[in-house]
Amino acid sequence: MKLPIQMDEFDLNSLLDELRLWVEMETPSCDAAAVNRLGNRVEMLAAQAGFAVERKPGTMGFGDILAIRSSFPDVADADRILILAHIDTVHATGTLAEKLPLRQEGDRLYGPGIYDMKSGVLMALEAMKLATWAGCNCAVDLLIVPDEEVGSKSSRPVIEEYAKKAAYALVVEPARDGGKIVTARKGVGICDIIVRGRAAHAGVRPADGRSAIRAAARLVLALDALNDPVRGVTVTVGTIEGGTGRNTVPAECRLQIDLRLPDIATAEEVFANINAMAPEDPDITFEIKSYLTRPPFIQSAQSRALFADAAKIAHMLGIPLNGMTTGGGSDGNFTAALGVPTLDGLGADGGGAHTFDEHILVSSIAPRTALLANLIVMLDRQSPAPLHVAPGPHWRSPYRCFG
Ligand SMILES: [Zn+2]
Repeated sequence: MKLPIQMDEFDLNSLLDELRLWVEMETPSCDAAAVNRLGNRVEMLAAQAGFAVERKPGTMGFGDILAIRSSFPDVADADRILILAHIDTVHATGTLAEKLPLRQEGDRLYGPGIYDMKSGVLMALEAMKLATWAGCNCAVDLLIVPDEEVGSKSSRPVIEEYAKKAAYALVVEPARDGGKIVTARKGVGICDIIVRGRAAHAGVRPADGRSAIRAAARLVLALDALNDPVRGVTVTVGTIEGGTGRNTVPAECRLQIDLRLPDIATAEEVFANINAMAPEDPDITFEIKSYLTRPPFIQSAQSRALFADAAKIAHMLGIPLNGMTTGGGSDGNFTAALGVPTLDGLGADGGGAHTFDEHILVSSIAPRTALLANLIVMLDRQSPAPLHVAPGPHWRSPYRCFG
């Protein structure tokens, strides 16, 4: 059978024009006013498309949270489709003017936040419109948060509230490594350690000092030894800061550590190992704070079935679809941990996330928007006739990349 939505059913040029405009509105997570300016634009477009918009004022100094809801906001709890997105970026204001100007080179469109994930937000909006036009009574909540890049501290309770109403969660984070979608993610942990010793004059009374830097150096090696590539554990001491001057035995040294953990049991084991680390010298102390910021996203049987559905649609669209596990966390970690079947990485293909090489592949927008739109129709329990998708002959879109 034919898919209800084909690749060429929307105006790609308009989408790209809008995307350029969004990229020109820089939105670092920490600048709530900037994030809200883009939020205003998103809200206006969603309202124009006929969707209901709920806007929750920002907390903890972050921007507002937007929930864009298709025309059936009263569909029973646990039957809705949740699409997760964010409009904040890791890039500071000014990146656009200096390090990463908006520009197109062949199929690549460069700009801060274009891949992670302003393109994904627009694709989700477009997919909701396409699904509605195709006659789908979609019960979709597109939740757009302002602080994903700094751990979604302010939006996590709202994400979890929406996840509890959802039958499925689709995350429009960017695709990985040639269009792969994400079917599992490691858990993300952080750890802050303050090593305290005793200051002393380095020349006059060195024996009175207890070097916090020396103790921290040993600690870094012990932390590093916790890395276990076979089990998928990574422990990275990302920053180290200590001492007050060249000629003073340093009294304090601080470490910031990032942890990626494949499952809860491993996370508990690694945290226990870190918390048990103790200085050899009784005059040195460690203050250790460690916790999981995002729980591991482990592929459940339902998530596997969801991936199989997406793969069937992709096959009919003539695009390859492979799943992968990544060490990068996303808001999908929260929904998967609540048992909601979750697919992640449904946004644009491209590369250079979080770097000055960030870009999308323009040619990926049409097929992946069509994939998302058809997936909404297929999953929607309110649709008049459920769509039974069977693998069919490859279908090629008349769409060609331009530029
Ligand atoms: Zn992202």
